[in-house]
Amino acid sequence: QKKEWAKLVTEQTVTADGVHVELAANIGTPKDVPGVLNNGAEGIGLYRTEFLYMNRDQLPTEEEQFEAYKEVLSKMEGKPVVIRTLDIGGDKELPYLNLPKELNPFLGYRAIRLCLDQQEIFRTQLRALLRASIYGNLKVMFPMIATLEEFRQAKAILLEEKEKLVQEKIEVSEMIEIGMMVEIPSTAVMADIFAKEVDFFSIGTNDLIQYTFAADRMNEQVSYLYQPYNPSILRLVKNVIDAAHKEGKWAGMCGEMAGDEIAIPILLGLGLDEFSMSATSVLPARTQLLNLSKEEIANHIDLILNLETDQQVKQYVEEHFLK
Ligand code: PEP
Ligand code: MG
Repeated sequence: QKKEWAKLVTEQTVTADGVHVELAANIGTPKDVPGVLNNGAEGIGLYRTEFLYMNRDQLPTEEEQFEAYKEVLSKMEGKPVVIRTLDIGGDKELPYLNLPKELNPFLGYRAIRLCLDQQEIFRTQLRALLRASIYGNLKVMFPMIATLEEFRQAKAILLEEKEKLVQEKIEVSEMIEIGMMVEIPSTAVMADIFAKEVDFFSIGTNDLIQYTFAADRMNEQVSYLYQPYNPSILRLVKNVIDAAHKEGKWAGMCGEMAGDEIAIPILLGLGLDEFSMSATSVLPARTQLLNLSKEEIANHIDLILNLETDQQVKQYVEEHFLK
């Protein structure tokens, strides 16, 4: 089977009925890029920049960040690279920021909330990203957006930093897309409103599932509530994809669900444009997608969305779309 996969490294991902979808990879550091290319990913759908900030005792400088982003963008040679701004908090702590202990860290002061509050941290990262933008195809993504005001504020700060760089005669790409993660249910429900202002969505199912079922993703005692196939999640995902397409935008997914063989046929049928997963899942996913027909699955979507449980959906997919 490994041999079969290897043949697909340089292939595009085209379904049995001729639909192209993009298979991208998730990375945590520039060291992951060779793995992305060796596994034939068509881009990077999520670069989790928080690792630049972790396991050290002070914030990374603009220069350090610039070097990391530049390395990733240049090595990807013009393929799309979605870089997510700092998503710290929850399970990822930064001791040197001396943040107060919280009762509910997953519901607390983290990610974009922290960045909009401690703007120096945010602006430094944005400057590094903007300066690196000329080395490839950069898309900037904000994590943990809950409201439209947060997205607008984050985007305004980015545009301010861009303007400053232009004034300083530092070159910045004019092609940068600005998007957001959909990982809080409020944004999945309001996707039609957000879609007018974003360039793209990327659905973060790890958190979207956690927040939809109110079940801590780290707590094994409630892990039965991690239900990616539950119709509640599928309906939210559909809402996001449809809203994006209505505004001519693209919708991707960068949570674990994007590389899951039960989920893949459903996501294809729902019209997902980009699937971002761990690099090692890319070739198996491509193999699976080459044999699926989007149009055929699309005919089953209404029925699937009206099933009652996660288990029923899983069984349905196994019976109809897995060989
Ligand atoms: C997600 O929440 O699905 C996601 C991709 O982000 P992270 O796992 O880094 O929270
Ligand atoms: Mg997340």
